[in-house]
Amino acid sequence: MKIGKYEINTVATGTLGLDGGAMFGVIPKVLWQKTNPADEKNRITLGMRCLLLQSDSKKILIDTGVGDHWDSKFSKIYRMDKSESELTRSLNKLGVKHEEITDVILTHMHFDHTGGATKFENDKMVPTFPNAAYYIQKDHFNWAKNPSDRDKASFFPERFVPLAEEGILKLIDGNEHFDDYIQFIVTNGHTFAHQMIKVSDSSNTLLYCGDLMPTASHVPLPYIMGYDLQPLVTLEEKKKYLSEAVEENWKIIFEHDPYITTATITKTDKGFVVNERYKDLV
Ligand SMILES: [Zn+2]
Repeated sequence: MKIGKYEINTVATGTLGLDGGAMFGVIPKVLWQKTNPADEKNRITLGMRCLLLQSDSKKILIDTGVGDHWDSKFSKIYRMDKSESELTRSLNKLGVKHEEITDVILTHMHFDHTGGATKFENDKMVPTFPNAAYYIQKDHFNWAKNPSDRDKASFFPERFVPLAEEGILKLIDGNEHFDDYIQFIVTNGHTFAHQMIKVSDSSNTLLYCGDLMPTASHVPLPYIMGYDLQPLVTLEEKKKYLSEAVEENWKIIFEHDPYITTATITKTDKGFVVNERYKDLV
């Protein structure tokens, strides 16, 4: 699809298995397993869907998936599977090489979003996209370098600190505009200073909502991840942005939904629900 000067494509980067209970917080399994069936270790399948925006002068990648060079134990725990799709293969399908990426926008530094930002080369981690500037919220970067005991298993500073050391990490401060069509929108419920990416012109708006709502199953208000540091903040953020999505007919892109790429939202007497859903970006 096209918004403003940008041609927009999704970039599939494989799947993960994460504990269904942790993914749905206080929601009982009898409810969430209807849409997201669990395996024998209670893991549900999650996609890692990045976004590529191309104009005459820019090739912008939003998030990078889990990346490579994880040891086999870690890969097994998270059931990493790249048999169907992988970052480089998906970019190549779109005719894009690593060197051509001009900008990489990261929603946050959790390993399943940032792992592909760097690669292992000559005994060290180096940027996967050598000619790109990378963007993250300043407050999130500071948190990610020194997280709490509760969330430190989600961060691997050795994979993103090299971006800062290379001098290519740009620190964003709040809801800044990248250009006339792209805006960073900060949320603080999932982790501190996570950012969503809003892409809009006069007729269409896409919201790449990162981990505010990882899947379409997370649209109803109480469906909030157990991982979230501030679930009641997530609740208020969902109300705010789902209301705007209904009023202005936004399309929401779900980064982790293995089945649904994008959806519009409606509000019924049961609250916010998915209206039209699409398997592909249209
Ligand atoms: Zn996350």
